Amino acid sequence: MSTGAGILTICTLDCPDRCSILCRPHGGSLRLRGNPDHPYTRDFTCAKIRRYPDRLRSPSRITQPHMRRGGRQGDFEPVSWAEALDAACAALSTALANDPASVLLLRGCGSMGASKDFIEAFFASLGARTTRGSLCEAAGGAACRLDAGAVDMNDPTEIDKAEAVVLWGKNPRASSIHTASQVKAARGRGAPVVAVTPDGATATALADQVVRVRPGHDRFLALAVAALLLELIDRPVPWEQAADRGAFEDLLRRHPVDDLLAASGTPRAGAELLARTYARTARVATIVGWGAQRYHRGGESVRAVHALAFLAGTLGVPGGGLYYNMPSARHRREVPWPTRPGTRPAPLIMPLLARELPAADPRSASSGRCAPTSPTRAPRPRPSPEVCAPSTRWSPSMASGPRQPGRPASCCPRPSFWRRRTWSPPTGRINSERPGGW
Ligand code: SF4
Repeated sequence: MSTGAGILTICTLDCPDRCSILCRPHGGSLRLRGNPDHPYTRDFTCAKIRRYPDRLRSPSRITQPHMRRGGRQGDFEPVSWAEALDAACAALSTALANDPASVLLLRGCGSMGASKDFIEAFFASLGARTTRGSLCEAAGGAACRLDAGAVDMNDPTEIDKAEAVVLWGKNPRASSIHTASQVKAARGRGAPVVAVTPDGATATALADQVVRVRPGHDRFLALAVAALLLELIDRPVPWEQAADRGAFEDLLRRHPVDDLLAASGTPRAGAELLARTYARTARVATIVGWGAQRYHRGGESVRAVHALAFLAGTLGVPGGGLYYNMPSARHRREVPWPTRPGTRPAPLIMPLLARELPAADPRSASSGRCAPTSPTRAPRPRPSPEVCAPSTRWSPSMASGPRQPGRPASCCPRPSFWRRRTWSPPTGRINSERPGGW
């Protein structure tokens, strides 16, 4: 899009900030800058886009399609767009004529713009298979949907209104410079910043205090903090918005704080610091990274942190709220791409693709059911895939606490205590960097 200030475009990198960029000719080259009118980009970008003009003119840049000749051992040769499109169309047409479900679309994110959804919509409209879930952020997204019905959150530009910030497994300086600037602004106004991190190092440049947690065990720490918070907080807890308060309280009763902390590897002082942070004010912005949910039962970790933000009454409060998958998902709107009803085969589960593919292959005798990937080895029994499991019903048999002797490590509490609505290391230590603390 062209404006008086230049051509408006978007960063093409797979980055959650998804910067809006103004591009202008400058001295035989291009000048790129952050769009000053964009509420999140706000006139600045990271240094990566300075290389864009060089990359544009790089002799190594691929500017036309390549096709491999001579089978799998052959070399790639440049071809015209017409030839490449004809070849792709012919191959696709043959497969579609045979069985549309034999075509599988696998794609990445790219710029994360909504137009990327067109690719999926196009293949779905052909009756081809697509995938659901991802190896990246999907378990946490499913957790948010189970809790609140959507991956939605406060406007990220409100973070600077926070009276405290909790960076749970998130280092915005490394992964989201615009979020980092919001956190710095809040900190500059006196908001303490607490980072929960396994290594005790990441995020320390932004944080006043650091609480360490054993990797993959965030849910135990979050539930311990929840129990401590309920003893401390003197504001009303919005229980009327919770679907199953009794089940959640029962869950906490059955798992003593010390057991939960032993499982998370966090000293009690760390949990108490977090509990005090949430008890002091509802304006706590909780920013959750992707790492905590990239473990078995990782979605439950996001749910447990979500519970903290809920119990403290932070959800929907300016300066409060829980942020997950932000901001890329926030401004992405579902586009009602047309599909042909009744022609769409079930998408395959991306994290289980090695097992799903043989079962989905129409030529396979095992088509329609899960097949072992090796004919000589029986499939390993696996637990249901995280919170992606369709059931949102909580039952006591699904819940367990920290690992107990003889119990599988994979067990975890599975509370489902929200009512759907639109609200939005082993030796852990506390590291106070700001003199005097708070
Ligand atoms: S911060 Fe992210 S979106 Fe913005 S220019 Fe850098 S890589 Fe691109």
